[in-house]
Amino acid sequence: MTSLPLVFDAPKRGLPPRHLADLSVAERRAAVAELGEKPFRANQLSNHYFTRLTADPAAMTDIPAETRDRLAASLLPPLLQVVRHVQCDDGTTRKTLWRAHDGTLVESVLMRYPDRTTLCVSSQAGCGMACPFCATGQGGLRRNMSTAEIVDQVRLAAAAMRDGELSGGPGRLSNIVFMGMGEPLPVDLQL
Ligand code: SF4
Repeated sequence: MTSLPLVFDAPKRGLPPRHLADLSVAERRAAVAELGEKPFRANQLSNHYFTRLTADPAAMTDIPAETRDRLAASLLPPLLQVVRHVQCDDGTTRKTLWRAHDGTLVESVLMRYPDRTTLCVSSQAGCGMACPFCATGQGGLRRNMSTAEIVDQVRLAAAAMRDGELSGGPGRLSNIVFMGMGEPLPVDLQL
């Protein structure tokens, strides 16, 4: 069997478009000001994205229509498109295959248990650890995901739970797990 090399540094690839979730609070305010808007619009945009879990300008009715379209076009570019969902465990587990702006494919898995709901997120596409038993490792490391690409997986899962897309009705995303790509360092974060 030919063994693959260990790869610690992700190959250099084009960055995803700038996104609100990549920026600090001060950077968001500065980005909004650069677009000719009052800095408080950054708070409104952040509230829609992080709290109301929407990136759809049509839902941001507290911001004038022309302004919200412009802010969303500049700061909320679509990062992940659904390729397909696969469900099992009577609909309480859902795996989603996402396509990023550059065609990179990653997965996230939403799992509902009696006492919690956990999302396993992708922080990398592929893996450079080359474990011989693992299909992900055999594909090599394609690239790291950006902060916003990881956050968007969480936002979309939280919205799916709120909207009752998993069996059991509406609920709340409570845990996030970083695992797979780049183990052994699984991290379980409770929200
Ligand atoms: S995903 Fe985990 S098991 Fe697979 S190659 Fe990477 S470190 Fe090894």
